[in-house]
Amino acid sequence: MKNDLPSDALYTLEDLEKWPREGTSLAVLGHPVKHSLSPPMHNAALAELNRDHPEFSDWTYYKFDIQPEELKSALGKFYRKGFKGLNLTVPHKILAAQWVNIGEAEVELTEACNTLLWTENGYQGYNTDLYGLTSAIEDEFKIQLQDRDVLLLGAGGAARAAAVACGQTGVRSLTLANRTVSKLDAIRGVLEKLESCPPVDTCALDQPLPSVSERMIVINATSLGLDPDDPTPADLRKLPASTLVFDMIYNPARTKLLKEAESLGMQVANGLGMLAYQGERSLKIWTQKNPSAKTMFAAAQAGLQST
Ligand code: NAP
Repeated sequence: MKNDLPSDALYTLEDLEKWPREGTSLAVLGHPVKHSLSPPMHNAALAELNRDHPEFSDWTYYKFDIQPEELKSALGKFYRKGFKGLNLTVPHKILAAQWVNIGEAEVELTEACNTLLWTENGYQGYNTDLYGLTSAIEDEFKIQLQDRDVLLLGAGGAARAAAVACGQTGVRSLTLANRTVSKLDAIRGVLEKLESCPPVDTCALDQPLPSVSERMIVINATSLGLDPDDPTPADLRKLPASTLVFDMIYNPARTKLLKEAESLGMQVANGLGMLAYQGERSLKIWTQKNPSAKTMFAAAQAGLQST
C-alpha cells in the first residue's frame, strides 16, 4: 500500500495490519459501511480547517469494514496504530461502549458510543448522536425542543439516544411508541435516572396516542422507511397540521412518513442534518477546533447524490 491512501476506498482489518501511513488517521468502523458518507463529510471539514490551521494538513478520514466479532481486537489494533479518532456505526455502537473508557455520562445512559478519542490511557468514548439530533431539529425547524411535546417512534439504539436527548433538554412531554411495547420499559428506566425527567407515556405503534397537542414533534427512530415499500411507522392523520415530523432516515431523502406529513401540510426534515451535526461534534472532540456543520452537511448531501 502506498502512503497516499485514497480516502474513498473501503479498508479491512488486513489493510490495518500493514497500515503505512504516518499522518493522523481517523476512521469510521461499521458493517456494512461501504456507503458511509462520513469520509467525504469529515475530509471536507478537515480541508476547510486546514486553511487556518495547517497542522491538519496530514489528517485524513477513512472507512473500514469490521465484523462485530472482530471489533474488540480491531479496536486494540487501531489504538496501537495511533488512529486519533474513530466513529462507530451499525452494529458497533453498543458493543464498543463496554470496552472503552467513558468520556461522558451519555455513554452510560445510552449504553452506546459512536466516537472514540485516542488518549494515553486508551480510547475514550463519547456519544455525539444526542447533540446531532437536538442540533438538527432546532436548526432545521428553527424551534427550541424544550417547547415541544415529543412523540418518539422506536426503541432501538437511536431511539434510546433520542429519548435521553429529549429528557436532558427538558421537553414538555415525551410519548414513546414502539412495535414491541415491552422494550419501552428499559428506556423509561433510563429516563428516570436523569436529574429531571419530563412526563413520559408509552404505547404501541398502532395504538391511538394518549394525548395530542398543537406543539407536537414526531421523531421517527424506527428503521421503517429504509425500504420504500415499508409501511409508515405512525398514522399522522389524527395530528394537527402544526406537527413537525423528523425522520432519522436520510436515504431515501423523503420516506413515506415524510411524504404523508407534507401532504397534511406539516413541516418535515430528514436525518441528514443529524448525521452532519453528530460528525461536527466528533471532529470537534478530535481537533479541539470548530468545524463547520454546514460544510459537512453539503459534503454529505453531495456524497448521497453520487451514490
Ligand atoms: P435498531 O436498534 O435496529 O432499532 C430498530 C427499531 O425499528 C426498533 O424500534 C424496531 O422495533 C423498529 N422496527 C424495525 N422493523 C419494524 C417493523 N417492521 N415494524 C415496526 N417497527 C419496526 O436501529 P437503530 O440503530 O435504533 O436505528 C433506527 C433508525 O435510525 C435507522 O433507520 C437508522 O438508519 C437511523 N439512524 C439515523 C442516524 C442519523 O444520523 N441520521 C443515526 C442513528 C440511526 P422493535 O423493537 O419492535 O423490533
